[in-house]
Amino acid sequence: ERRPFIAGNWKMHKTTGEARALAEALVENLKDCPHKVMVAPPFTALSAVREVLKGSPILLGAQNMCSVREGAHTGEISVLMLKDLDVSVVILGHSERRLIYGETDRLINEKVRLALEEGMEVILCVGETLEQREAGKAEQVVEEQVKRGLDGVAPEDLSRVTIAYEPVWAIGTGRTARPEDADAMHRHIRRTVASLHGTDAAEALIIQYGGSVKPSNIKALMAMENIDGALVGGASLSAENFLPIVNFHL
Ligand code: 13P
Repeated sequence: ERRPFIAGNWKMHKTTGEARALAEALVENLKDCPHKVMVAPPFTALSAVREVLKGSPILLGAQNMCSVREGAHTGEISVLMLKDLDVSVVILGHSERRLIYGETDRLINEKVRLALEEGMEVILCVGETLEQREAGKAEQVVEEQVKRGLDGVAPEDLSRVTIAYEPVWAIGTGRTARPEDADAMHRHIRRTVASLHGTDAAEALIIQYGGSVKPSNIKALMAMENIDGALVGGASLSAENFLPIVNFHL
């Protein structure tokens, strides 16, 4: 049985005051939530949100990190700095990192391995562009992202990896993948992980869907066999939208 995992990616939104207010509303209303829940504020609000989340089951996540531990890397944030703030999960390989900032599978893989070495949980994001989907290459693209992203990951570390399937054409567009199509890709991802790490590990793997998740479509998505959670962008920015998503029931 895979425990549902709902994560909010706040992207480049919220001042510290706004972040604190949202975190307070979530803490207040998610005391008895049976699902695993995480929020990933921007780096500048991690410290403020950490204070609010103390003693709550909501996990603190980060949206990115540097591929090396320490050194002359102006503008980067180290995994050690994240751990210092009780960040336990890091989102890596988001399509906005790949497409706007040129992150390659190789760089993302270095980050994945470093995060796991340092005891963090990882959400590894994969997903095809509209162009790739229309060219019939979606499965191939996603499979390569999964294989390259997980290259060299020890089997015993895989339990700390979540994969988020986020088709680029569904992100921030209001256009959600059809649950059946998302499920088919999730099944393909699970098979890919089975080929790398065996069926037991693949069966236990949490695969989130991301891309225009909202209160009105979470239930249909979560009803699919291979959809185990959601990585939510826009709808995670208010308690009004995020709470009904987190508290979905089938
Ligand atoms: P939206 O929910 O705003 O489409 O964003 C999805 C996403 O990119 C989460 O990481």
